[in-house]
Amino acid sequence: MKPVNSILSSYGTTVFEVMSRLAIEHEAVNLGQGFPDGNGPDDVRAVAHEALDGPPNQYPPMMGVPELRQAVAAHNKRFYDLDVDWQTETLVTSGATEALAACHFGLIEPGDEVVLIEPLYDCYLPIVRRAGAVPKLVRIAPPNWELPRDELAAAFSDKTKLILLNTPQNPASKVYSREELEFIADLCLKHDAYAVCDEVYEHLTFDGREHIPLMTLPGMRDRCIRIGSAGKTFSLTGWKVGYLTGSAELMTPIAKTHQFLTFTTPPNLQRAAAYGLGKDDAYFTGLSADLQRSRDRMAQGLEDIGFGVIPCEGTYFIFCDFRPLIPRLNGFNGDDVEFCRRMTVDGGVTAVPVSAFYGEEPPQHFVRFSFCKEDATLDAAIERMTAYFAGDG
Ligand code: PMP
Ligand code: GLN
Repeated sequence: MKPVNSILSSYGTTVFEVMSRLAIEHEAVNLGQGFPDGNGPDDVRAVAHEALDGPPNQYPPMMGVPELRQAVAAHNKRFYDLDVDWQTETLVTSGATEALAACHFGLIEPGDEVVLIEPLYDCYLPIVRRAGAVPKLVRIAPPNWELPRDELAAAFSDKTKLILLNTPQNPASKVYSREELEFIADLCLKHDAYAVCDEVYEHLTFDGREHIPLMTLPGMRDRCIRIGSAGKTFSLTGWKVGYLTGSAELMTPIAKTHQFLTFTTPPNLQRAAAYGLGKDDAYFTGLSADLQRSRDRMAQGLEDIGFGVIPCEGTYFIFCDFRPLIPRLNGFNGDDVEFCRRMTVDGGVTAVPVSAFYGEEPPQHFVRFSFCKEDATLDAAIERMTAYFAGDG
């Protein structure tokens, strides 16, 4: 039999699926895959219900329903003072994941280089590679996640087609500062590169930190594609409604890719996302305030247990060093994958091993916890881990 595609077949099943299955099998508290406990805002779901029985459920327009595209443009103006033409500069996709694929398949020519910052979301490398690009990886390291500016500058060349930038960054929970973004913008301008900006956690920043789209920096308006996700902004991760903003020149090849990937996204979910983006300021500030409280609760619990907790500026993930706990795990000598497996099976709590967020030679002593959960869920996880690491779990 002839070989199948070698790039994708070199990857296993995603860590999120693997760990969620293991969590179900062992009835563990699942703080691995990032999905909220709740069912999203009632009013947003109500619009989706109504829209199911109202307008036709046949194929909506390929670029997305006008209501959502107009709402995306208005959201850009409201939060970032960006003037966006909804008819030529917005596109709706089936989640940010499809948006990422459409951007790369639409913009990359074989042999182009793409700059990425590790640790990175797990679909980035497969998509970049399958698009035919050569990934150029630069690593940021805990606890400060400082941008290694010389290395980043060295990763850019005249072959750089684009940088794939994720801020707030999963799983580092870093929110890029204006100064860092200025440095990145300068490199893009110097090397005539684009930026695909994964900003799905745009509303999940803490301690008063501001999310700044790279697109708002001087010279970057028409070099950036900005990606958002209703899954994150409305705590409805199963919906898979993504939206892109970018110049008509960039949107054209991306839309052509989208039309052959999925073509459209369920119209009732698009209409509900449109309603959601128009919600009042209290919704957006409440979302981050609630998550900030959960972050504090989780960070305190993990610290009390003995994890090395890395500061979390945004997203709904906490990055932790588990080395301080190894002496309490009778002869444990494994890596992060084994640590997460054992903690699920024997301790009843699931995290994800962070090595899944790296290309070559990942660090092997960090795990990631999702804290987008009810207090009772977080407390149950902390209680179980406290008992487990005390040796009586
Ligand atoms: N980008 C990042 C950084 C993510 O964490 C996720 C996780 N959902 C996605 C993209 C994918 O978003 P969606 O579910 O909308 O496809
Ligand atoms: N983005 C989610 C996370 O980082 C997972 C999405 C998925 O399961 N593919 O946990």
